[in-house]
Amino acid sequence: MEQSSFLENQKERAFAESSATSHIRSLNHQILRVDPSGMPLDWVSYQEAVKLYFLDKVLYSCGKPLYQLRGGVNSVTGKQSTLEISSIIATISENMNSHERLYSYTPPLSNQTLFARDARMCLYCGGIFSRQNLSRDHIRPRSHGGEDVWTNVVTACKRCNNHKAGRTPEQANMSLLALPFKPSHAEYVYLKGRQVLADQMEFLQAHFPRTSPLLERNVHAEEA
Ligand SMILES: [Zn+2]
Repeated sequence: MEQSSFLENQKERAFAESSATSHIRSLNHQILRVDPSGMPLDWVSYQEAVKLYFLDKVLYSCGKPLYQLRGGVNSVTGKQSTLEISSIIATISENMNSHERLYSYTPPLSNQTLFARDARMCLYCGGIFSRQNLSRDHIRPRSHGGEDVWTNVVTACKRCNNHKAGRTPEQANMSLLALPFKPSHAEYVYLKGRQVLADQMEFLQAHFPRTSPLLERNVHAEEA
């Protein structure tokens, strides 16, 4: 047992370290990991994907091939082994209850995903801003007992947030351009993604709630 896992580690390392790690595209692209039914779970790096292949956790893959890794040369056949990693991989799920867990999931709130939810638009003035000019506004201010939860926060430019200060939108005579919502698990996976590719986007969108505001908002995917 130990022997075989040692060998697996060696093989895995040989692949991961292979200088021929190619280059179909930059190694920064993330791979979308889904469960056997296709439910989006998370993003993994190509190194993590290699590991999942060697642990025999990958059931199938789909989407476009992203990376082709070259391993060692077989001393008998003289052939070099290769491993192709696609943009989407389905892995054996560890938790049988994961579906129910994912349906009732409340994603952690961070500025990065909040700004992504609102497509970097200030929901008061409608301007699109860079990250450093954005802030998290509590619709009902914390000083009025407003909670720090998805449904009480919106993206606001710093100017609008300063103007609103410790008031409710009504008190400040400011109206919201869109309603805040709590992302589903699939929506959250999308919001966390960097450089989401078109085939990954399509896969994720198929799992968005039908009424997802993200389908209308400015959601981008990169061409693969
Ligand atoms: Zn603004």
